[in-house]
Amino acid sequence: MIYADVVIDITSGELDRSFSYRVPAEWEEKIGVGMTVTVPFGKGNRPRRGYVTGLSDKTDYEEQRVKSILTVDSSAETTEANLLKVAAWIRETYGSTVIRSLRTVFPVREKMKIREKKRIVLKADPEEAEQLLGELQKGRGKARARLLGAVLESEEKEIDYAYASKELGTTDSVLRYFRENGILLVDSEESYRLPFRIEDIPQEKPALLNDEQKAAVSEIRSEWDGDQSRPVLIHGVTGSGKTEVYMTLIQDMLDRGKQVIVLIPEISLTYQTVRRFVGRFGSKVSILNSRLSRGERYDRFVQAKKGEISVMVGPRSALFTPFTNLGLIIIDEEHEAAYKSESTPRYHARETAVFRAELEGAHVVLGSATPSLEAYSRALSGEYRLVRLTERHEGRPLPDVYVTDLREELKKGNRSILSRRLRDEMEDRLGKHEQIMLFLNRRGYAGFVSCRECGHVIKCPHCDVSLSQHMGGRLVCHYCGYETQAPKVCPECGSSYISGFKAGTQQAEQVISKFFPEARILRMDSDTTRTKGSYEAILSSFAAHEADILIGTQMIVKGHDFPAVTLVGILAADLSLNASDFRSAERTFQLLTQAVGRAGRGVRTGSAVLQTYCPSHYSIQTAARQDYEAFYREEMAYRSLMDYPPAAHLLVVHASCQNEEKLTQGMYYAARFCTKLSAAYQIRTIGPAPEQISKVKDMYRQALYLKGKDDAALKTLRKHLEDYIAINPGFRDIYMQYDHY
Ligand code: ADP
Ligand code: ZN
Ligand code: ZN
Repeated sequence: MIYADVVIDITSGELDRSFSYRVPAEWEEKIGVGMTVTVPFGKGNRPRRGYVTGLSDKTDYEEQRVKSILTVDSSAETTEANLLKVAAWIRETYGSTVIRSLRTVFPVREKMKIREKKRIVLKADPEEAEQLLGELQKGRGKARARLLGAVLESEEKEIDYAYASKELGTTDSVLRYFRENGILLVDSEESYRLPFRIEDIPQEKPALLNDEQKAAVSEIRSEWDGDQSRPVLIHGVTGSGKTEVYMTLIQDMLDRGKQVIVLIPEISLTYQTVRRFVGRFGSKVSILNSRLSRGERYDRFVQAKKGEISVMVGPRSALFTPFTNLGLIIIDEEHEAAYKSESTPRYHARETAVFRAELEGAHVVLGSATPSLEAYSRALSGEYRLVRLTERHEGRPLPDVYVTDLREELKKGNRSILSRRLRDEMEDRLGKHEQIMLFLNRRGYAGFVSCRECGHVIKCPHCDVSLSQHMGGRLVCHYCGYETQAPKVCPECGSSYISGFKAGTQQAEQVISKFFPEARILRMDSDTTRTKGSYEAILSSFAAHEADILIGTQMIVKGHDFPAVTLVGILAADLSLNASDFRSAERTFQLLTQAVGRAGRGVRTGSAVLQTYCPSHYSIQTAARQDYEAFYREEMAYRSLMDYPPAAHLLVVHASCQNEEKLTQGMYYAARFCTKLSAAYQIRTIGPAPEQISKVKDMYRQALYLKGKDDAALKTLRKHLEDYIAINPGFRDIYMQYDHY
């Protein structure tokens, strides 16, 4: 006897589970995961359509009460069957509910009524918004905090306008506040579209590949022709022409009648990038972005399924484009954090792409100048094929990088945000009418405390990550929960210049216009990009040399190509280094390398000035030398020592609850449960500890960390924990999410 798990209707979140049905004997041979079936449902046994999500030879329910499947649609298309397997794999790998995984993979056609509703949408960088949320929670802006918290918590980073005003008490003045600081945006359909028309983009002839690019392409083709066809990682320095290589590979696929998915981080989906793909492949290309309404996204997916388009370019969710003859998935800037979903299921696009490609006999190509440690370690072990691009096109040199020590500047009495070196270099470039980009690294900046005299940062003695400052001056570790009072003087050098680091792009702009009153300055941050199209407008104005200096946050470092930029200044390289996250050194190295890589992409050689309080840190040193290999070795040693991924596996159990006491108690028992089992599985339980943002939308948040070398053991432990939580009434009001690294 065979039983099938059937999910009834994925358009409603209510039936968040699968049901067990008996498979009639005549179907036993033919039925498969992913097929559409009709089953009797509910008291009246009304026939309903459902998806088969699993098959087994036993059922957890009383045999007599299990109903039989009525009909099986064996013609169910393989695309859907494959995507369903992807959903099942996501659920299995990352931990989630059936419905949520299905809804991640299958875009649901919403009713027109819903499409026209007004929505409140996140406009700013999520990390920047989270930081503001932390500040709002400390102050009196309760209604503001409630709204921002709700948006950040939501899966799509947007919530319904009517819901906000009814349930969250969002008033016009709250909305005005967020509109003015550019964090949120109220909108209906209109602003979800790209700020330019694809039809207006002129066609372009393919570029002639240089020798190194040709070699890369033929290496990749030979990998594809081999019997293994592993995922390929292209490690190419900034400006080496990875995009040209991608386009040649895409053409290969189109020639064979196959389809291609190209994932690009949302922030790099600018006119420049879109233009290159559309210019080359014309109307075969479709662009997805998260600003599309669900209806529009659905329509594009329908076009893809019908074969009206062959190349889908878009962020993470484009991975689920229902192409029927998928040949290749490209993931550009593979290291980007945006490829990991921040809401349940917390899938990673890279891992999911490899799974989908295997299922459909497609290839995967990853590219980055600064590969993630995960991808690079796999490339070194032979699980991926490594292909290198070591030179910029036409042998243009990488920029010269100067590191300046801000502690020394302070000692010499220079308290401004510009070191002497950077000021001199700027003066020189302005004199030559060349362009300058100034980058203020605020990513992941999370209220760490450091000394301006000696650069010392207060860290957790157990986890080697920075402590974050909380209310009343307490410093907290977000991994293990360790707490201490913020010191009044630096424990290293006794200086009283010890405090949280504060810096903004606006302040930077003021200072710089004082130093260089003649210079034309553009600023790009969440303030200046709040209106529709303003992001594009700033970029194109700078590209047209209508300004000499562009100051901005991480927004400006992503993939832009400004040939006249010959100087990049990084105002405070360390800010992201001190995020309380085990990946902070990796993120810093990536950001700095990418930022430095903006300089000298044209005919003139570029240089970069990197200002820092810790010039000897390996992230800074290796980024200054543009030496990925050296960085990788140092960072892997650290990960191995601390048992952080990819040296070990990590499962984060996120829990939230309205009742703090209940949460604390629940997490205490969850931790105890894990600790008991962990010895047998060789897993270490750390925490529970309050999360970075310890309260959102009146929900308290805590996390528990489980580290282990054996991924399967960690997954088994997760399942035991899931079962334990499901039957234990103490967890009833606690919302659990799992995050697998
Ligand atoms: P990456 O993505 O590796 O940073 P890009 O693909 O953006 O590099 O290429 C960097 C610059 O060099 C772009 O302006 C691109 O047009 C140019 N370029 C790269 N390869 C070629 C080529 N084979 N022929 C002409 N221009 C090229
Ligand atoms: Zn000090
Ligand atoms: Zn700690």
